[in-house]
Amino acid sequence: MKRVLLLLPTTGYRNGDFLAAAKKLGVEIVAAANYCHQLAPSWGLAPIMALHFDRPEQAADAVLREIDGNPDAVLAVDDSGVELAALLAERLGLPGNPAHAVRRVRDKLAFRRLLLEQEFLCPGFHHLPSGDDPGKLVPELKFPVVVKARRLSGSRGVIRADDSEALVRAVNWVRAIQCRADRDAQELGLIIEDFIPGREYALEGSLEQGELTTLALFDKPDPLDGPYFEETLYVTPSRLPREFQDRIHREVARACRVAGLAVGPIHAEVRVNDRGIWILEVAARSIGGLCGRVLTHSLGMSLEELILRQAVAEPVAISGEGGAAGVMMIPIPRRGIYHGLEGLAAAQSVPGVTGVTISVEPGQIIAPPPDGASYLGFIFARAARPAEAENALRIAHRRLHFDIRPEYPATLAPAAERT
Ligand code: ADP
Repeated sequence: MKRVLLLLPTTGYRNGDFLAAAKKLGVEIVAAANYCHQLAPSWGLAPIMALHFDRPEQAADAVLREIDGNPDAVLAVDDSGVELAALLAERLGLPGNPAHAVRRVRDKLAFRRLLLEQEFLCPGFHHLPSGDDPGKLVPELKFPVVVKARRLSGSRGVIRADDSEALVRAVNWVRAIQCRADRDAQELGLIIEDFIPGREYALEGSLEQGELTTLALFDKPDPLDGPYFEETLYVTPSRLPREFQDRIHREVARACRVAGLAVGPIHAEVRVNDRGIWILEVAARSIGGLCGRVLTHSLGMSLEELILRQAVAEPVAISGEGGAAGVMMIPIPRRGIYHGLEGLAAAQSVPGVTGVTISVEPGQIIAPPPDGASYLGFIFARAARPAEAENALRIAHRRLHFDIRPEYPATLAPAAERT
């Protein structure tokens, strides 16, 4: 029986999907998690240890001390564990991407430097060290710009600023977000880059011996112009002309090559305008949230199964059905406490809709980007054509009514203070 060391995040959407795929394939999972194993949710297996994924060197030492016999592969469920997975694979002599390559693509500043050096289309960018006054950069900036935390994901800590006042506000806000979310915030500082106008696409791919296979190219039909960049719709196949899709594939393949990524899943985000194809990011992981489920019909297996098969060198035969599919990451309209929803059955009954999964719990505090990086849930659709899948998602979304209340009831100040 093959054994896989799986790195599970506390709040991962996909822990269950990976474990289900392992069960189906008869792969033994050794779990390491970034939460206390005493408090581990009941996945049916207890993690062997709780690790700090954001301290990969120390975490790798801990795993190597604890683990009983070598696994056949190391996999991370999501972005938080990819660097540690790469480091462990390196130390255990298992196939994987070099840890330094994974680290570099996770760092938005290092990735921009690489793109510039390798003559990709690349927006002008600046590093803003912690404590530096953003005003000093203003003479060099071409507004609008995008202020970003260095290595968060899901559009968390990403804000467009159109002038110098908005820049100061964005910098303060993103600094606060990064300080809460990344304990290296102080050393990292921020990146400020030119805003690239255009339409956005996402490429879900798989690398084997440096060769990229595109599993799906997604259109993102809602404009993502900011000031915050919450994702909503992903629809595949793309409606771009074939030749353009091939160009995106080639550009992403070249980015993977120069970045030193050669195996495993990749997820790339690109913007397209009349100047060409701009790579926003290439991540050494698969698509986030539950979005991967949208590919099950076209792959003929779950995306997690495909990733596991590749990791343990089991044959992968993609033989799915055609047609179009789409997913809506249900956006969080405002910060507050989620109380419940109405219209679930009505949304589920929209022709073409194949499922609606709500991923928040009543009582949970929720926040949209740039503060948060989660969704209310996911709507899935399938149809003959992409436009129909997109339409089904929009109709279903309109039928959902979420009850989100303010975090604290508004209180009136005592009369004495008001006067
Ligand atoms: P994350 O890893 O959090 O997704 P990204 O760098 O991909 O961070 O940015 C999130 C989103 O913000 C992108 O999908 C895109 O819509 C928008 N964005 C980021 N950088 C730019 C830019 N330079 N120009 C225009 N939009 C951008």
